[in-house]
Amino acid sequence: MKGFEYHKPQTVKEAIDLMEGLENAKYIAGGTDVMVLIRQKKLAPNCLISLRNIGDLAYMETEGGLRIGSAVTHNAIAKNEFIQKRYCALADAANKVGSRQIRNVATMGGNICNAAPSADTACPLLVLDAKVAIVGKKGEREVPIDDFFLGPNKVALEAGEIVKGFNMPAFGENTGSAYIKHTRRQAMDLPMLGVAARVTIKIGGSEVGCKDAFCTVDSISNILKKLEDENLVCEDVRIAMGVVAPRPIRAKKAEEAMRGKVISEKLFEELGEIAASESQPRDSIRGEAWYRRDMVKVLTKRAILKAVDRVIRPDDTIWPERLW
Ligand SMILES: Cc1cc2nc3c(=O)[nH]c(=O)nc-3n(C[C@H](O)[C@H](O)[C@H](O)COP(=O)(O)OP(=O)(O)OC[C@H]3O[C@@H](n4cnc5c(N)ncnc54)[C@H](O)[C@@H]3O)c2cc1C
Repeated sequence: MKGFEYHKPQTVKEAIDLMEGLENAKYIAGGTDVMVLIRQKKLAPNCLISLRNIGDLAYMETEGGLRIGSAVTHNAIAKNEFIQKRYCALADAANKVGSRQIRNVATMGGNICNAAPSADTACPLLVLDAKVAIVGKKGEREVPIDDFFLGPNKVALEAGEIVKGFNMPAFGENTGSAYIKHTRRQAMDLPMLGVAARVTIKIGGSEVGCKDAFCTVDSISNILKKLEDENLVCEDVRIAMGVVAPRPIRAKKAEEAMRGKVISEKLFEELGEIAASESQPRDSIRGEAWYRRDMVKVLTKRAILKAVDRVIRPDDTIWPERLW
């Protein structure tokens, strides 16, 4: 492995100045992508500029929404009770990245800037309408996450710019979200497919009568029938899919098909089909295209149902996923 200089700036400005002055330099946060690339000889920087000691990149603020600094680790996100309760899709994803050791050092900033189509936190950020806060020589700017991903390992950062963090709006009590990662094994595996959903439901009466349906061994079909009887209308929805295109994408046609509709089994069948038609998966060592497309149908339904469940039973953690 070729040697490199290692710089440890204490402020964002210092890091940006260093990047401007040094030749062939690279930012590094947790290093779990950068160091792998260096070892594989796919990357050979002369200098690494560490973002780990910059306190201004390690914030978490929950007033009027959620703002997370880019240097916050996946473990800190997964363990945060506010995120577990209000931004479930993000907690789901952070909790599934690599292993505990990886989650302890790897950051969300690194996951998003690396821009792998399989990046686990990408789909949750897409459904949570996140904006990427960017800082550079010319000052600060914000980019919607959907415009930030340009392609595999390509993001909308100009030379020397740093991602400061991610800003998400506040969502009401009737909104729930979920991320489902489909892998060949339970841990230390990149997703073969990932689907996130955020749903806002208009609930007619005071309480949803069928909420206990989720705690039974009933089939999805029966649960959906019970939900349909409750006349639950989907006011708003976001669906995002990972590893089905060169970058994580929204399933916008499926979202459109669901908005304003009563939740029902027929609707769920349609959504799965539409989402699958919006995906363009390819064959890879982790799975074949036909299988990924079929699983988009399944996971879209599951992710939406899980998000709905979180609205209906906000304080209940029983989730009979294994039965489905
Ligand atoms: C064993 C193993 C298992 C893994 N499992 C998963 C998994 O299950 N799911 C998954 O999604 N990923 C996984 N990864 C990939 C990796 O851990 C994640 O992508 C991680 O979040 C990267 O974060 P990091 O802080 O280590 O990034 P780094 O490696 O430090 O940086 C990654 C890229 O982002 C840039 N960068 C970092 N921070 C900033 C910033 N603030 N501003 C601008 N550019 C920045 C760096 O220059 C670099 O290009 C795994 C990696 C390993 C080694």
